[in-house]
Amino acid sequence: MSVAELSTGKSSTYVHIQDKLAEPFSPNDLCKSWVLEWLDTNYCEKEAFRIRSCGTKAVSLQCPNGHKKRIRLTCHLEICPRCGQIGSLVHKRRYLRALDRLNWAPILGYMVFTLPREVSDAMPSKKQLSELEKEAGVIVRENFETEGCMVRTHFMGEEISKLHIHINVLFPIIDKTGTGKVPKETLALIRQQWTNFVNKTFNLSKEKTNVFYKFKTSTIKMRHVIKYVTRPVVVAEKFLSLSNEQKSWYLSFAGWHNTRWYGQLANCKYKQYLQEQGVDHIANQEKDLATATKCPVCNERYRYQEMIDVADIYKNEFRQIDKDVWVCYETFAYLLNKGSPNLKKKCGQPVDSKLTTGCPQTKKTAKSKEWHLRRHEKNCRQNDLFYSNVEHQPRAVPAISRG
Ligand SMILES: [Zn+2]
Ligand SMILES: [Zn+2]
Repeated sequence: MSVAELSTGKSSTYVHIQDKLAEPFSPNDLCKSWVLEWLDTNYCEKEAFRIRSCGTKAVSLQCPNGHKKRIRLTCHLEICPRCGQIGSLVHKRRYLRALDRLNWAPILGYMVFTLPREVSDAMPSKKQLSELEKEAGVIVRENFETEGCMVRTHFMGEEISKLHIHINVLFPIIDKTGTGKVPKETLALIRQQWTNFVNKTFNLSKEKTNVFYKFKTSTIKMRHVIKYVTRPVVVAEKFLSLSNEQKSWYLSFAGWHNTRWYGQLANCKYKQYLQEQGVDHIANQEKDLATATKCPVCNERYRYQEMIDVADIYKNEFRQIDKDVWVCYETFAYLLNKGSPNLKKKCGQPVDSKLTTGCPQTKKTAKSKEWHLRRHEKNCRQNDLFYSNVEHQPRAVPAISRG
């Protein structure tokens, strides 16, 4: 075959390859290559290696009854285009963990302590930021009806190319009769305490600093604010907008604990504390397949098996639930029967209807719709119970034919 034939795509064998090449670049791919280019030229081999290998491996888990799950391993760096996305595996884990520890009291308090612009510009040290986080936690616990809090630092705001360090504090307010409102004097006192501490730490003589308080009383709004505070902040685009000095300073925070828990919600105390409040400390984490430690079919704990390449997850043995989770067909059949929220989320409607009517969002072709339908009918013939609403019994479900 001639080169001309190849490039025009006239040869039937190569037509589909030509089509793929004609696809536009995804902004994520472009960002990734720019981030990697900067890391390579600035001798950050470790970070570059982590981003390059992000998502290529998976952990293999299995329950004692043989139900399998595979979870993608990611690099957890916010500047990684995969991990820096809203709803990435690392964001989801952080969010669900925080949700379990925070979303149970009638009110959720939210305080933001900002640092003066010149402090952000001067790029404070790890030690200084750790002390500021600790102090923010102390101020909140002193002034509100709460016994513990989560503190998380955001290095940037909405603005690009500028550091804007602010410390977010989330805390459950236990006061059942209260509304979450606090008197003006309390807020003035909080502002004064924060200003004094900032002045002392950075040798400044500021008269006031920016402190901001909000509270949420509905579960949806609480969830929203927890998701917002736990989101990745210095993502690839924002990282690229910083100066070289700022980039190096930001990278020096790798391994620094950005999210911290204080008081009764501290890592060593929260399980017992939540138990005393009658709260299940892993309820939300167990509901999501990505974070669940127990098998949804038999409720037994998953055990670690090995680390594998994502390319080795065979399509005919596993069903992909979302971009980071795969389960064996038996688990998938169980979830399908139960109408798991994990499966509904994917296309906005239950999978059963997707099988019979075609999914408008994934735009299945007529041919693959037909194939799904045929497989669906075959499975129904094998066992009439399969799609009925009778309560699930693990042993009664047949394994779907593989491949
Ligand atoms: Zn990553
Ligand atoms: Zn199981």
